[in-house]
Amino acid sequence: MVELELQKEISDRLLAEANLQKANQELESLSCIDSLTGIANRRRFDRSLEQEWQRMTREQKPLSLIFCDVDRFKKYNDRYGHQAGDRCLQQVAKAIHSSLLRSGDLAARYGGEEFAIILPNTDAVGAIAVAKRIKSQLANLQIAHDDSSIGKYVTASLGVASLIPNAQNEPDFLIAQADKALYQAKEQGRDRFVVFCENLDCCDLTLTQLL
Ligand code: GH3
Ligand code: MG
Ligand code: MG
Repeated sequence: MVELELQKEISDRLLAEANLQKANQELESLSCIDSLTGIANRRRFDRSLEQEWQRMTREQKPLSLIFCDVDRFKKYNDRYGHQAGDRCLQQVAKAIHSSLLRSGDLAARYGGEEFAIILPNTDAVGAIAVAKRIKSQLANLQIAHDDSSIGKYVTASLGVASLIPNAQNEPDFLIAQADKALYQAKEQGRDRFVVFCENLDCCDLTLTQLL
């Protein structure tokens, strides 16, 4: 009798432990995912960029970062409503996600209508290829935006930065460069990408505008 009770207690405890483990896994995955778009969230982005920065520093390989910001999105919300705006962001996230071909690449929602893409072991030339794919995937969606000053459809501006990390710098250094490039892309008329590349050997562009 005592043996039976003991057996039941053990199996109850094992079940409770398994349930707890499952709940923890679900919590962990939820805390990494942006609930609107289903891609990585800012928290996962921060962690991943830190890890890749360290890995690329060790391996002395290039690390690229792309910031992608939807153009005139406030006007899109004003015209079509916030729910349509949300659906638009979901489509943009899908277009970005489908532009990534390597398993190590990471697309994240950085905040609002801004997305960030981490490309480990990728130089400026490779990052430009990804930026071009994002632009064309987004163009293919043909999401109507009648109040955009740029064209008939939703567009985005992209800032691309690429460098070989070193221990003297931090990921913020790369973020600042991609941000600067994005700012230039906006300044120069939107619906384009600008590349910031400090290493002239990997790419003969410095702050270059590319349509
Ligand atoms: P720019 O071309 O300079 O990028 O202009 P913009 O209008 O895209 O930029 P601005 O920063 O002025 O506006 C961003 C807008 O994005 C305002 C905000 O309401 C909207 N937004 C941010 N997050 C969400 C969201 O989760 N859902 C919806 N529907 N809109 C959002
Ligand atoms: Mg915007
Ligand atoms: Mg923005």
